[in-house]
Amino acid sequence: MRIGEWDHDAFVAQVKNFHGHVAPGVIIGGYMVEMARRTLPEGILYDAISETVQCLPDAIQLLTPCTVGNGWLRVYHFGIYALTLYNKQTGEGTRVRLNVDALQEYPHVRAWFFKEKPKREQEPELLQAEIKAAGMQLLQAIPARIHPDFLVRRGKGAVCRCPKCGEWYPAVLGEVCRICQGDGPYERHAD
Ligand code: ZN
Repeated sequence: MRIGEWDHDAFVAQVKNFHGHVAPGVIIGGYMVEMARRTLPEGILYDAISETVQCLPDAIQLLTPCTVGNGWLRVYHFGIYALTLYNKQTGEGTRVRLNVDALQEYPHVRAWFFKEKPKREQEPELLQAEIKAAGMQLLQAIPARIHPDFLVRRGKGAVCRCPKCGEWYPAVLGEVCRICQGDGPYERHAD
């Protein structure tokens, strides 16, 4: 079965190159993207949603024109292994998720998904073989409709200077920048 322009093994090589290792989540994610895209009419412009920050954004960025940087891929921190592709005009699209009820037949995928075994006890070759054999059989596609509020793209608006640290940021985010509001990853900021 083809995944975008690649067959399974060629896609695995792409994932190794882009993601750094052959992550099962990205390989299955490739089939998820392929399954969602096959439901969309040819030639439409579509946007993408990933419901997790892990693995799926990379599958989407490898296989579609949608990236985080161009704004056509929106990533949510829900930790849910599912993605959606949708018509960016109408919001009509398809959400694809792992069909957890079908995993009895795929014990290695099941062990991976539920983290049933510590990583050193998992058998990566058997897992990869199962993923290749299963293809889209692991998956479930459901029609999805995006809320109209999410179809409107807003600019970031006026830019202002943070009175605390002097950094420039979109004024809509508050009186001081998000980092000075305490949302940043740094131990110290502009003291
Ligand atoms: Zn600041």
